[in-house]
Amino acid sequence: MKATVNEELCVGCGLCVDTCPDTFIMEEDKAKIKANPVPTGSEDSCKKAKEECPVEAIIIEE
Ligand code: SF4
Repeated sequence: MKATVNEELCVGCGLCVDTCPDTFIMEEDKAKIKANPVPTGSEDSCKKAKEECPVEAIIIEE
């Protein structure tokens, strides 16, 4: 599974980092991807982060 963040949309709320810290990291008030592919065991929390993102900035490719 591969995750990307659309930085144009990201509002830097930090929710994805709280939900899936193995995949997302905050840098300069934007979420960045820390690990690609998404680490085994973090796939469900990564999907949850995608669902929770208030601006739908997270894209997941299976
Ligand atoms: S949840 Fe969405 S808006 Fe919030 S930091 Fe993550 S990518 Fe950005």
